[in-house]
Amino acid sequence: MSIEARRAEYLRTIGIDLWVPRDGLRGGAAQAGGDPLEAPQPACARPPGPADDADAWERLRAEVRGCTRCALHQSRTQAVVGVGPERCDWMVVGEAPGAEEDRRGEPFVGRAGQLLDAMLGAIGLSRGANVYIANILKSRPPGNRDPRPEEVQACLPYLHRQIELVQPRLLLAVGRIAAQNLLGTDAPLGKLRGRVHRFGERGVPLVVTYHPAYLLRSPADKRKAWEDLKFARATLARSLTGS
Ligand code: SF4
Repeated sequence: MSIEARRAEYLRTIGIDLWVPRDGLRGGAAQAGGDPLEAPQPACARPPGPADDADAWERLRAEVRGCTRCALHQSRTQAVVGVGPERCDWMVVGEAPGAEEDRRGEPFVGRAGQLLDAMLGAIGLSRGANVYIANILKSRPPGNRDPRPEEVQACLPYLHRQIELVQPRLLLAVGRIAAQNLLGTDAPLGKLRGRVHRFGERGVPLVVTYHPAYLLRSPADKRKAWEDLKFARATLARSLTGS
């Protein structure tokens, strides 16, 4: 399948109309929402961190997998650390593992994960190649209930260490729980979308969008999520050029 056809498939999956010129998708002329389709980004272009970082990752993974800091360790199948290059520009943060993630040990798998992959694919990103994906909580809350404050407090230091190691140039918070906990606010998601927040001492740009599980229930909002992704892509481009 050509790059353009694959991109078109991603956009169809996330429910975005595609304007196709008469000569079809050849030549990269197809547009979605008036924007040129994004070329696939190369596998992470950032050099890996120093050897110390590899040790730090090993320690972190081992610590999370054996973690008993909160009661969720009693009901999980396994802790879900994260997936992706250990240093890269994009980092996606979600809420917590669901049933499928708990079973497979990887964040954002199942239907919501497929939609996230399509959303990322539409802006040229690919799981495992050039985006790191993690959650606020590493263990599954029973019945997929919202994380409790004491669970977030216990688990958040792991995510902070992941962010230190990945050194993303853009954080994409997907869903209310991720956005509120990263930003330390109780503002509703609608108020957090559409602007650039800053995270941590390095002031990493942070953009907020919907959780793909929400978009599966509310497909009418996929268009807004697509706007968020384009906004995130433009934010990163601006920060890389210093403009
Ligand atoms: S949710 Fe986090 S703090 Fe709680 S047991 Fe799992 S890894 Fe530990």
